Amino acid sequence: MNRIIYEELVEKSLKSEILSDEHSHRILTSQEIELLPLLDAAYQVRKHFRGKEVMVHIINNAQNGFCPEDCHYCAQAKTSKANIEEYPLKADEEILSEAKRAYESGAFRYCMVFAGRGPSPRRIDVLCTLVKEIKSRYPIQVCISAGLIGDQGAKKLKEAGLDRLNHNLNTSERNYPNICTTHTFQDRLNTLTSAKAAGIELCSGIIVGMGEEVADVIEVAKNLRRLGVKSIPVNYLIPIEGNTVKKFSHLTPEYCLRILCLYRFLNPDSELRVAAGREGHLRSMEVMALYPANSLFLDGYLNTKGSSRARTLRMIKDAGFVIKSDYSVEEILKEEEGKNNFKIEENQSFMKTLKELRPQLKA
Ligand code: SF4
Repeated sequence: MNRIIYEELVEKSLKSEILSDEHSHRILTSQEIELLPLLDAAYQVRKHFRGKEVMVHIINNAQNGFCPEDCHYCAQAKTSKANIEEYPLKADEEILSEAKRAYESGAFRYCMVFAGRGPSPRRIDVLCTLVKEIKSRYPIQVCISAGLIGDQGAKKLKEAGLDRLNHNLNTSERNYPNICTTHTFQDRLNTLTSAKAAGIELCSGIIVGMGEEVADVIEVAKNLRRLGVKSIPVNYLIPIEGNTVKKFSHLTPEYCLRILCLYRFLNPDSELRVAAGREGHLRSMEVMALYPANSLFLDGYLNTKGSSRARTLRMIKDAGFVIKSDYSVEEILKEEEGKNNFKIEENQSFMKTLKELRPQLKA
């Protein structure tokens, strides 16, 4: 494909021009649009707005399970048979010491997730106290994810100093009834609208892999653009045993990367996060995600493990990116790995064993 196509994509995106559905569809599916120049085009937009910085997030599951909702992808849903360790809300001191650790691990933002349909007025007050306390102790941005929130709750959280509210759209309006029946797409939109009206920055994204079509992926990106969402997590479904997702979509590393590129072109200056499932779905292509995306989770997700801290930081450093933190990526890596720069993987020896060198040799 002629280079002009890619140059036009960059030009349009830098001017914040919207792409047609047809054009978006081709980015996601057409083999005539090749992956490498596409990633390069997305990188030019990322670099223009976000430089070479990576925002590192650490997620804190402040409470696990006990949720009355039935989001089919979630291990904490009442309908899920996933084998999780349920626990009620962590004590304030536990959450605060985890915030400290997140700050010292180079996290720019600390995300607290509370399972449930949405907080009661009393729970809103608890959240406000926590937000105030964290902000007074550490220079770290605070984000919470707490389900459906109305105008009053959003206003109080803003006054307490909350920087961001996470509430993912997850999928398109058309596909929503296929992934959840206890609340609607409109409920989700209303929460985002309340948070926006209160002046809280929005974090909202998608989970791909739940039976959505290409058109649904495009629709979510355009909805996020309309809402002015400044932080967009792109999650790839982690198929947790016991969850109730009924229909899956076929994801390949290439398609996953194309989605990130499209989201970058349609939301050029947003913080775009390659979020849950990057390790399993991008596999050997994982590092390429940092060209369209400028944000990730350091070491795992709500109920599932991810990369180790050291591996994630090394990937960022090896690709020549820097992290947005009071600490440098080198400082934190040194802390995580000790002084051995040649360490390949945690718990793995650097040297091959005799058995690996001479597999034919009988014991
Ligand atoms: S995503 Fe949130 S609201 Fe839905 S089941 Fe999980 S914890 Fe409950």
